[in-house]
Order: sequence, then C-alpha cells, then structure tokens
Amino acid sequence: MPTSPSRKLVILDRDGVINLDSEAFIKSPDEWVAIPGSLEAIARLNQAGYRVAVASNQSGIGRGLFDTAALNAMHAKMHRQAAAVGGRIDAVFFCPHTAQDHCDCRKPKPGMLKMIAERFEIDPEDTPVVGDSLRDLEAGAALGFRAHLVLTGKGEKTLAAGGLPEGTQVHADLRTFALDFLTKERV
Ligand SMILES: [Mg+2]
Ligand SMILES: [Zn+2]
Repeated sequence: MPTSPSRKLVILDRDGVINLDSEAFIKSPDEWVAIPGSLEAIARLNQAGYRVAVASNQSGIGRGLFDTAALNAMHAKMHRQAAAVGGRIDAVFFCPHTAQDHCDCRKPKPGMLKMIAERFEIDPEDTPVVGDSLRDLEAGAALGFRAHLVLTGKGEKTLAAGGLPEGTQVHADLRTFALDFLTKERV
C-alpha cells in the first residue's frame, strides 16, 4: 500500500549532513554553517510532500560545552535559513546525554528514531534515515528504516571503515540524496 502523503517523512542527522561538522563540536549559532545545497535539498523534499525531522546526538550539552539555550539558538538559525530557501524542518529531536549516561536516545540506540516514528505515525520501511556516521544508520537499521549515507562530514571515513547496514545507499551529499531519492520515487 502506498504511503499516504501526510506520512511521508525523511529523518536527517544534523552535524555533517545539514551543517558542517567540527571535531570541536558545534557550540554556538556562529559555528552553525549550512553545507551548500543542504537547505535547498530540504526544500525540495518538502515540495515533493515530505516532512523532515532531525535526530541529532548533542553530547556537548552533557559535557557542559554549551547549553540548551545555545542549541535552541542554533536551531533558530537553521529554521530561519531553511525558511529563506523555502524549506521547513518539522521537528528537531536531540539527545543531550554522553555515553556514560546510558540513555536510550543516544544513537546508535534507536530511542530517538522510535519517538519520531511514533510522533509522525510513519512506517520505518518507507522512511529514509540520512546520516554521515555509522551510528546514525545503525539506529535506523535496528527499527527497519532505510539507511542512506552521505559523504559529507564524517561520511568518507564512515564509508572507508565499512560495516554499513545491509542495503545502505551512498550519496555525495544531502543535495544528491534528495535528487536520487525523489527520482527513484517517481519510477
Ligand atoms: Mg553527523
Ligand atoms: Zn540520550
């Protein structure tokens, strides 16, 4: 049965997929810089009837590198810049914990994606999860989501390290993902 238009969703990791990543963490709105074409890709997905949700590990909060107010300010910038090119991100889910907290939401644990699936009432089988790290894809694979690796951020290293979930599709960046994904959808 085809997915009803309202149930069409794409789940994105944030750092290294939507914005440039940094080993030193993205700690402020100034450090949040979109990858060229990523926000336009979100707009393109929206135009094709897809809602977009973000699922992001933000252990910098748990480490005390920045606080929730700073994270909210980064996301305000992301929403504003997306809106400027006609894009809309419907929800941002984040895990503020560190590995030591042993939470259920820090990827590769599936907690965040499970919450998103419930909130949006979607079928993981029909829903792509796009990430640049193995843990993004593992979190999705555990629930049956479709794994898509982008080669921005840590993506090249992730591809070289191997061990990707079965059926993982690889794209140069989010822009290329959107083009590939929407082309296939039309077939
Ligand atoms: Mg990432
Ligand atoms: Zn967590």
